[in-house]
Amino acid sequence: MSDISKKILNLKKEKNAVILAHNYQIPEVQDVADFVGDSLGLSRIASNTDAEIIIFCGVHFMAETASILSPEKKVILPDIDAGCSLADTINYDQLKKWKEKNPNAVVVSYVNTTAEVKAESDYCCTSSNALQVVESIAKDKEILFLPDMFLGAYVQKKTNRKINIWPGECHVHAAMKYEEIKNLKDEYPDSEVLIHPECACGSQAMAIAEKNNDKSIHFLSTEAMVNKSREITSKNIIVATEDGIIHKMKKVAPEKNFISINRKSQCNFMKMITLEKVLKSLIDEGPEIKVDEKLALKAKIAIDRMISIG
Ligand code: SF4
Repeated sequence: MSDISKKILNLKKEKNAVILAHNYQIPEVQDVADFVGDSLGLSRIASNTDAEIIIFCGVHFMAETASILSPEKKVILPDIDAGCSLADTINYDQLKKWKEKNPNAVVVSYVNTTAEVKAESDYCCTSSNALQVVESIAKDKEILFLPDMFLGAYVQKKTNRKINIWPGECHVHAAMKYEEIKNLKDEYPDSEVLIHPECACGSQAMAIAEKNNDKSIHFLSTEAMVNKSREITSKNIIVATEDGIIHKMKKVAPEKNFISINRKSQCNFMKMITLEKVLKSLIDEGPEIKVDEKLALKAKIAIDRMISIG
């Protein structure tokens, strides 16, 4: 273990801090974290932890969500500029206008949104429970789903109901093309494929898998991908999501060969968090992410619904 990692672990103990890291963080940051997981898993931990300080190694909306769930805790994002291109695709004004045009609709927001957008939503969801959240809404209700169009299309297909979908996308997952999966499948014919529903390749992969009754293609949230990699018997596993997840997969299933559909599938925002910044944020106890109390209370309703479903 490096000196800097040792310093982080000592200081974390001294300050009664917990380090949460998203599955897309760099390996060294994942290795100093108390918990590594997806947005939903980390939100749950943030709401239950006894630690006084939460160092959130992820992006801004995740730290905001943790702060909404634990307003009495100090939530720290080691780099204040770690944003999210998907969350940036819709703001408060845009959602207000969309709602005005569809006054009877129920708003389901993917967790990758700002606190202001969450506060205007009826439900939040993550990729792990998006299907359950939509299925929990009465069939005759109109739904506005935002901001990810690929996840929205996946939910629409799986639940077999008409959903109004916001045309947002994440630059990392939008760049993943079906041809890359096809080429790797040709190279590794015995492989299984794990695809995150945010990926642009999803609809085509799903249509082709259904047409060919191909059971080797799975659509899963990041956490479910990690769990699935343990169960799969095939040695070769093709992974279609941000590259950082492979570090965790290798830990849970070291005997497997994980093949990223594109080694360049990296989120520049997630990769802004470094060990040096984690250490500095522990020393400075900042930058702290705080959400206005009134806004947080409003946003918490949709987040609590997300946590209680699935
Ligand atoms: S991978 Fe995409 S959705 Fe996830 S934080 Fe990065 S930009 Fe946002």
